Amino acid sequence: MRYISTRHTKEGGGPSPVGFDDVLLSGLARDGGLYVPETWPALKPQAMDALAPLDYPTLAARVLAPFTQGAVDERALLTMAKDAYKGFDHEATAPLIQLGPNRWLLELFHGPTLAFKDFALQLLGRLFDHVLTKRAAHMTIVGATSGDTGSAAIAACRGRPNLSVFILHPHGRVSEVQRRQMTSVLDDNVHNIAIDGSFDDCQALVKAMFNDLAFRDQLSLGAINSINWARIAAQAVYYFYAGLRLGAPTRPVAFVVPTGNFGNVYAGYAARQMGLPIKRLHVATNVNDILARFFASGAYEKAGVTPSASPSMDIEVASNFERLLFELHGGNGAAVRGLMEQLGRDGRFAVGAAELQSARQVFRGHRADDAAALRAIAHTYKESGILIDPHTAAGIVAAGEAEGDAPLICLATAHPAKFPEAVERATGIKPKLPARLADLLERPERATRLPNDLTRVKDFVRAHAGAGAGLRSAGGGR
Ligand SMILES: *Cc1c(COP(=O)(O)O)cnc(C)c1O
Repeated sequence: MRYISTRHTKEGGGPSPVGFDDVLLSGLARDGGLYVPETWPALKPQAMDALAPLDYPTLAARVLAPFTQGAVDERALLTMAKDAYKGFDHEATAPLIQLGPNRWLLELFHGPTLAFKDFALQLLGRLFDHVLTKRAAHMTIVGATSGDTGSAAIAACRGRPNLSVFILHPHGRVSEVQRRQMTSVLDDNVHNIAIDGSFDDCQALVKAMFNDLAFRDQLSLGAINSINWARIAAQAVYYFYAGLRLGAPTRPVAFVVPTGNFGNVYAGYAARQMGLPIKRLHVATNVNDILARFFASGAYEKAGVTPSASPSMDIEVASNFERLLFELHGGNGAAVRGLMEQLGRDGRFAVGAAELQSARQVFRGHRADDAAALRAIAHTYKESGILIDPHTAAGIVAAGEAEGDAPLICLATAHPAKFPEAVERATGIKPKLPARLADLLERPERATRLPNDLTRVKDFVRAHAGAGAGLRSAGGGR
């Protein structure tokens, strides 16, 4: 399988297609675009029937194999998937719980850090290890987090000798559970940096490090944020897993996806492109509703960021949306480049009527403010005795607006105990952390506090990256 950039232009002598291992290590394409597969691998209905009885790791290897072809074979994938998912708390890995006559909850929070990001990152850590070991190379992961991504990335990379990981979080501005999930990991290759600044400051520092090409190449920087294609591919697996349990490929299904950067719901789109009969993908946003507005009007327009009870969905623009734009424009990279430049210049763009219509064949957008989300938490608890987190709650609000008769699968993206204040406010009940994390609030922490100063942060990263002796840099910078 080869990958191309969403800003690829044949005339412009754009970058030539690259293989999975380079896509994995480099994250973003050199021309500023995102990698997408050159063609979608297709599963025939009979082949899909054969997937239904598989356990989660075996299904993961089968679904991922066409995407990693030429770089990682299915047998190696299976070994990694078994290892990645054996630490999950639930036997089914991603259990489906019935909420109502035609409505289901897909629990994606049984991994080590209690949010769906573990599904992709647990596998990504192992894929990095696999490819870097083959190349005898070292990589320095640098990322910014407002909460869930950082802990999932740290859990995936800890203790791996060919990786160092640096996660920047805004000092005093992540929840205590989120902070401790990062800072209580004491492995030598894990470095938490608490920045005196906001999440946007952290993100700007990370971007600046990547834009310093000398620094980037010297330390062999790698990205672990949701624009990495491998994360999308790994997330497509649970759409198959849930759909096959509810009658696909014979019976079509629909999904509700609490959405921020459009990575998770785009993985559902990928599953659909591979042949899974998905009738509808509902994009559930909070008040940061740029996507809900787009699917209503065709206009994509920045409007700042408003903090909410579902912080992992607090985005101004959705970084993976560019991948859908590429699809809507028939793979025309020049058109995508034009729209993204317009967004940078004017803060908005609009697609044509035909593109909007084709988007609406699959997607619907929804918006839930905090009050509606809290009501959904209370209502779900009253009806079913199930506690849901505020991100999942935005999805439950969207489910209430969904039409059609296909079984509706609502993705539960975080464990309620990750956001205990909102859940307690809605229900009066304080959700408990799972037993293995019960002592989280007593564990020792390690973090380095640094000013919002690029030079100081770079010096720290350079001093602690410590590429193991004899290992060369991964050269992901090509
Ligand atoms: C990251 C996250 C989301 C948003 O997912 P995207 O892939 O960015 O759309 C939703 N809910 C939770 C709990 C998350 O951690």
